[in-house]
Amino acid sequence: MLTLPFIEQSAMYNQVVTSINSYMATGDANWRSIRGNKIKTFLCPSDVGADVTANAAGGNWARGRAMESGVWLRDGEHNFCAVLSGGRGFLGGTELPQEISIQLWKINPCCPGTLHPMGDARRERVADVLRRVAGSPVFQKLNEGDPYAMGESLGIGAEEGHRRAGELGNVCLWCDEFFARHFDMSTLEARTEPERKALLPVLNGRRR
Ligand code: SF4
Repeated sequence: MLTLPFIEQSAMYNQVVTSINSYMATGDANWRSIRGNKIKTFLCPSDVGADVTANAAGGNWARGRAMESGVWLRDGEHNFCAVLSGGRGFLGGTELPQEISIQLWKINPCCPGTLHPMGDARRERVADVLRRVAGSPVFQKLNEGDPYAMGESLGIGAEEGHRRAGELGNVCLWCDEFFARHFDMSTLEARTEPERKALLPVLNGRRR
Protein backbone atom coordinates (compact mmCIF):
# COMPACT_ATOMS: atom_id res chain seq x y z
CA MET A 1 0.00 0.00 0.00
CA LEU A 2 2.68 2.47 1.02
CA THR A 3 4.54 2.06 -2.26
CA LEU A 4 1.54 2.98 -4.42
CA PRO A 5 2.41 6.70 -4.77
CA PHE A 6 5.85 5.71 -6.04
CA ILE A 7 4.57 3.51 -8.86
CA GLU A 8 2.16 6.03 -10.38
CA GLN A 9 -0.81 4.82 -8.34
CA SER A 10 -1.44 7.95 -6.28
CA ALA A 11 -5.09 8.08 -7.31
CA MET A 12 -5.72 4.65 -5.82
CA TYR A 13 -3.64 5.44 -2.74
CA ASN A 14 -5.53 8.67 -2.09
CA GLN A 15 -8.85 6.82 -1.99
CA VAL A 16 -7.82 5.11 1.25
CA VAL A 17 -5.01 7.27 2.66
CA THR A 18 -7.05 8.24 5.72
CA SER A 19 -7.57 4.59 6.61
CA ILE A 20 -3.90 3.76 5.98
CA ASN A 21 -2.81 6.54 8.32
CA SER A 22 -5.22 5.35 11.02
CA TYR A 23 -4.37 1.65 10.76
CA MET A 24 -1.54 1.46 13.31
CA ALA A 25 -3.49 3.43 15.91
CA THR A 26 -7.01 2.06 15.47
CA GLY A 27 -6.74 -1.04 13.28
CA ASP A 28 -8.89 0.70 10.64
CA ALA A 29 -8.98 -1.82 7.78
CA ASN A 30 -11.04 0.08 5.22
CA TRP A 31 -7.90 0.44 3.06
CA ARG A 32 -8.47 -3.21 2.13
CA SER A 33 -11.31 -2.08 -0.12
CA ILE A 34 -8.81 -1.43 -2.92
CA ARG A 35 -7.08 -4.79 -2.78
CA GLY A 36 -9.07 -6.21 -5.69
CA ASN A 37 -7.39 -3.77 -8.11
CA LYS A 38 -4.83 -5.15 -10.51
CA ILE A 39 -1.60 -3.22 -10.97
CA LYS A 40 0.15 -4.00 -14.21
CA THR A 41 3.58 -3.46 -12.68
CA PHE A 42 3.00 -6.49 -10.48
CA LEU A 43 1.58 -8.79 -13.13
CA CYS A 44 3.81 -11.35 -14.78
CA PRO A 45 2.84 -11.90 -18.45
CA SER A 46 3.32 -15.65 -18.08
CA ASP A 47 1.21 -15.96 -14.90
CA VAL A 48 -1.83 -17.99 -15.92
CA GLY A 49 -3.40 -17.33 -12.49
CA ALA A 50 -3.17 -13.56 -12.75
CA ASP A 51 -6.94 -13.22 -12.77
CA VAL A 52 -7.17 -14.75 -9.28
CA THR A 53 -6.67 -11.70 -7.10
CA ALA A 54 -6.38 -11.72 -3.33
CA ASN A 55 -9.90 -10.36 -3.23
CA ALA A 56 -11.13 -13.39 -5.13
CA ALA A 57 -10.52 -15.50 -2.01
CA GLY A 58 -13.48 -13.60 -0.63
CA GLY A 59 -12.45 -11.90 2.59
CA ASN A 60 -10.41 -12.25 5.73
CA TRP A 61 -9.94 -15.64 7.34
CA ALA A 62 -11.62 -16.17 10.69
CA ARG A 63 -8.21 -16.37 12.28
CA GLY A 64 -5.51 -14.33 14.03
CA ARG A 65 -5.48 -10.54 13.67
CA ALA A 66 -8.65 -10.55 11.58
CA MET A 67 -10.49 -12.18 14.49
CA GLU A 68 -8.93 -9.87 17.06
CA SER A 69 -9.85 -6.74 15.14
CA GLY A 70 -13.27 -7.98 14.01
CA VAL A 71 -12.62 -7.76 10.25
CA TRP A 72 -13.11 -11.45 9.45
CA LEU A 73 -15.64 -12.41 6.80
CA ARG A 74 -19.05 -13.09 8.28
CA ASP A 75 -20.74 -15.24 5.69
CA GLY A 76 -21.36 -18.88 6.52
CA GLU A 77 -22.09 -19.66 2.88
CA HIS A 78 -18.76 -18.34 1.63
CA ASN A 79 -16.81 -21.56 1.19
CA PHE A 80 -13.21 -20.54 1.62
CA CYS A 81 -12.24 -24.22 1.71
CA ALA A 82 -13.09 -24.64 -1.97
CA VAL A 83 -10.60 -22.12 -3.33
CA LEU A 84 -6.82 -22.13 -3.61
CA SER A 85 -5.30 -21.98 -0.10
CA GLY A 86 -8.36 -23.68 1.34
CA GLY A 87 -8.49 -27.44 1.95
CA ARG A 88 -9.60 -28.39 -1.54
CA GLY A 89 -7.02 -30.49 -3.34
CA PHE A 90 -4.63 -30.81 -0.40
CA LEU A 91 -4.39 -34.56 -0.99
CA GLY A 92 -3.77 -34.02 -4.68
CA GLY A 93 -5.85 -35.35 -7.52
CA THR A 94 -7.80 -32.19 -8.41
CA GLU A 95 -7.29 -29.53 -11.05
CA LEU A 96 -5.88 -27.21 -8.35
CA PRO A 97 -2.20 -27.30 -7.38
CA GLN A 98 -1.70 -29.53 -4.33
CA GLU A 99 -1.13 -27.24 -1.33
CA ILE A 100 -0.73 -27.75 2.39
CA SER A 101 0.63 -25.29 4.96
CA ILE A 102 3.27 -25.88 7.62
CA GLN A 103 3.17 -23.24 10.37
CA LEU A 104 6.29 -23.78 12.49
CA TRP A 105 5.79 -27.54 12.93
CA LYS A 106 2.04 -27.76 12.42
CA ILE A 107 1.01 -29.51 9.22
CA ASN A 108 -2.37 -28.21 8.02
CA PRO A 109 -4.51 -28.97 4.98
CA CYS A 110 -5.02 -25.24 4.33
CA CYS A 111 -3.59 -21.79 5.01
CA PRO A 112 -6.10 -20.81 7.76
CA GLY A 113 -5.11 -23.95 9.68
CA THR A 114 -7.42 -26.46 11.29
CA LEU A 115 -8.17 -26.40 15.03
CA HIS A 116 -5.46 -29.01 15.58
CA PRO A 117 -2.73 -29.82 13.06
CA MET A 118 -2.85 -33.03 11.03
CA GLY A 119 0.72 -33.81 12.04
CA ASP A 120 4.02 -32.64 13.52
CA ALA A 121 6.73 -31.82 10.97
CA ARG A 122 9.42 -32.23 13.65
CA ARG A 123 8.57 -35.91 14.03
CA GLU A 124 6.75 -37.04 10.92
CA ARG A 125 7.28 -36.95 7.20
CA VAL A 126 4.65 -34.88 5.39
CA ALA A 127 3.99 -37.73 2.97
CA ASP A 128 3.26 -40.08 5.90
CA VAL A 129 0.84 -37.59 7.44
CA LEU A 130 -1.02 -37.16 4.15
CA ARG A 131 -1.14 -40.92 3.66
CA ARG A 132 -2.61 -41.35 7.15
CA VAL A 133 -5.44 -38.84 6.74
CA ALA A 134 -6.19 -39.75 3.12
CA GLY A 135 -8.21 -42.78 4.24
CA SER A 136 -10.52 -40.70 6.45
CA PRO A 137 -13.90 -39.72 4.93
CA VAL A 138 -13.67 -36.47 6.94
CA PHE A 139 -10.47 -35.43 5.19
CA GLN A 140 -11.74 -36.66 1.86
CA LYS A 141 -14.55 -34.10 2.16
CA LEU A 142 -12.02 -31.34 2.90
CA ASN A 143 -10.05 -32.50 -0.12
CA GLU A 144 -13.24 -32.05 -2.15
CA GLY A 145 -13.58 -28.54 -0.73
CA ASP A 146 -16.80 -29.46 1.07
CA PRO A 147 -16.37 -28.86 4.82
CA TYR A 148 -20.15 -28.58 5.27
CA ALA A 149 -20.35 -32.33 4.62
CA MET A 150 -17.24 -33.32 6.59
CA GLY A 151 -19.37 -35.06 9.21
CA GLU A 152 -21.44 -37.25 6.88
CA SER A 153 -19.54 -40.42 7.82
CA LEU A 154 -20.41 -39.68 11.49
CA GLY A 155 -24.09 -39.08 10.74
CA ILE A 156 -23.77 -35.26 10.70
CA GLY A 157 -25.13 -34.19 7.34
CA ALA A 158 -24.24 -31.23 5.14
CA GLU A 159 -27.45 -29.46 6.22
CA GLU A 160 -26.15 -29.34 9.79
CA GLY A 161 -22.79 -28.09 8.51
CA HIS A 162 -24.51 -25.26 6.61
CA ARG A 163 -26.68 -24.46 9.63
CA ARG A 164 -23.76 -24.20 12.06
CA ALA A 165 -21.54 -22.33 9.58
CA GLY A 166 -24.39 -19.84 9.24
CA GLU A 167 -24.80 -19.48 13.00
CA LEU A 168 -21.07 -19.18 13.62
CA GLY A 169 -20.71 -16.84 10.64
CA ASN A 170 -17.89 -18.66 8.88
CA VAL A 171 -17.21 -22.13 7.50
CA CYS A 172 -13.75 -22.34 9.15
CA LEU A 173 -15.40 -21.79 12.55
CA TRP A 174 -17.74 -24.67 11.76
CA CYS A 175 -14.61 -26.71 10.92
CA ASP A 176 -13.12 -25.79 14.33
CA GLU A 177 -16.31 -26.80 16.08
CA PHE A 178 -16.45 -30.07 14.19
CA PHE A 179 -12.94 -31.07 15.27
CA ALA A 180 -13.57 -29.95 18.85
CA ARG A 181 -16.92 -31.63 19.29
CA HIS A 182 -17.12 -34.51 16.90
CA PHE A 183 -13.81 -35.79 15.56
CA ASP A 184 -10.40 -36.43 17.08
CA MET A 185 -7.72 -35.50 14.56
CA SER A 186 -5.04 -37.50 16.40
CA THR A 187 -6.90 -40.83 16.29
CA LEU A 188 -9.11 -40.15 13.24
CA GLU A 189 -12.05 -41.36 15.32
CA ALA A 190 -15.34 -39.80 16.47
CA ARG A 191 -15.05 -38.08 19.84
CA THR A 192 -16.62 -39.58 22.93
CA GLU A 193 -19.02 -37.54 25.09
CA PRO A 194 -16.47 -36.96 27.94
CA GLU A 195 -13.94 -35.71 25.38
CA ARG A 196 -16.45 -33.24 23.98
CA LYS A 197 -17.17 -31.79 27.41
CA ALA A 198 -13.46 -31.42 28.19
CA LEU A 199 -12.61 -29.74 24.88
CA LEU A 200 -15.45 -27.26 24.50
CA PRO A 201 -13.91 -24.66 26.85
CA VAL A 202 -10.74 -24.81 24.73
CA LEU A 203 -12.75 -24.06 21.62
CA ASN A 204 -14.70 -21.29 23.30
CA GLY A 205 -11.47 -19.60 24.37
CA ARG A 206 -9.91 -19.73 20.94
CA ARG A 207 -10.64 -17.80 17.76
CA ARG A 208 -14.09 -16.79 18.96
S1 SF4 B 1 -12.92 -25.26 6.51
FE1 SF4 B 1 -11.24 -26.18 7.74
S2 SF4 B 1 -9.92 -27.22 6.26
FE2 SF4 B 1 -11.23 -25.80 5.11
S3 SF4 B 1 -10.06 -23.89 4.92
FE3 SF4 B 1 -11.31 -23.69 6.77
S4 SF4 B 1 -10.02 -24.42 8.48
FE4 SF4 B 1 -9.10 -25.14 6.54
